[in-house]
Amino acid sequence: MHLQTEVIQIKNRWQTELIDSVTSVQELVTRLRLSPKLLSKGQKAALKFQVRVPLSYIKRIRHSDPKDPLLLQILPVKEELKKYEDYSQDPLNELNHNPKSCVIHKYRNRVLLIVSSFCAINCRYCFRRHFPYSQQHQDREKWFSALEYVTNRPEINEVIFSGGDPLAAKDSLLSWLTKKISEIPHIKRLRIHTRLPVVIPSRIDDELLLWMQSTRLKPIMVLHINHPNEIDSAVEESLRRLRKIGIRLLNQSVLLKNVNDCSNVLIALSEHLYSCEVTPYYLHLLDPVEGAAHFHVDKARIKAVYSEMQAVLPGFLLPRLVKETPGELSKTIVCVND
Ligand SMILES: *Cc1c(COP(=O)(O)O)cnc(C)c1O
Ligand code: SF4
Repeated sequence: MHLQTEVIQIKNRWQTELIDSVTSVQELVTRLRLSPKLLSKGQKAALKFQVRVPLSYIKRIRHSDPKDPLLLQILPVKEELKKYEDYSQDPLNELNHNPKSCVIHKYRNRVLLIVSSFCAINCRYCFRRHFPYSQQHQDREKWFSALEYVTNRPEINEVIFSGGDPLAAKDSLLSWLTKKISEIPHIKRLRIHTRLPVVIPSRIDDELLLWMQSTRLKPIMVLHINHPNEIDSAVEESLRRLRKIGIRLLNQSVLLKNVNDCSNVLIALSEHLYSCEVTPYYLHLLDPVEGAAHFHVDKARIKAVYSEMQAVLPGFLLPRLVKETPGELSKTIVCVND
């Protein structure tokens, strides 16, 4: 007979919060007291891209308000089911730049590693909503091949943890990968692109801070916040903890119709970010991904919103307006002044 040792897995608080997330339209509608009319079409849209929202994010959504800017980011709606000619499943042509499993290398000196295929929240406008994550490995042994790719390319000086959301991965993997990457002499920086500290602030726990502060790579964290209502006191506290150990914080937003396509909202966001020592980095135009056309902001509106931001914000609080064009060697700066 085989003696089995029972392993009791103690889950961190953030992992419990992740598991407790809302994953059905029905529960969203009930919890937020929304009209049941939203149900059937929403459920159909959810079949294409699952609902996922942590309770800590739901707390920041107003009840009975179908126009709440946070709700619009996570609620599947019937508009997602419409097809448009110029909206595709892989708008950025990432599959053409996927030299190895888990590696996306488009820009010469920085490389993305898909550390986790999973996100803590499913944003309806996400450009990776159709990415074939199941074909990307998660097996640690196979990470060696990705690391080898980076090691063999001295032109790469920055590694970006991406996903999904890289902070959905366990700290054991993140800390191991960071150690391996720090052993590659030509890597100067580690960047972490994540929405987790915003949607589950308890993710910034001692275990995470420990590996982040014990690497020579000085991690830079690029957050993803679209609206000032997303920053509550728990988020502020998590950002403070990161700043305390010297992590530089940047933010990128996506310009989204009815969510933040208003200069007052984006100016308030920049000011709030400043008070948390976060620098606004990019304001992205929406990528034309299938299912997200209802978030599209037209040219005239983009120009009006950004010009007003320029008029009010100091340069260091003005995010760069960018879009991604397949085939380009960097993001493209969008000019609104001509
Ligand atoms: C956005 C992006 C980067 C990082 O670009 P920065 O302009 O340095 O922030 C790197 N690789 C890919 C594939 C990207 O999409
Ligand atoms: S957190 Fe980022 S990667 Fe994940 S669904 Fe939202 S936009 Fe997409």
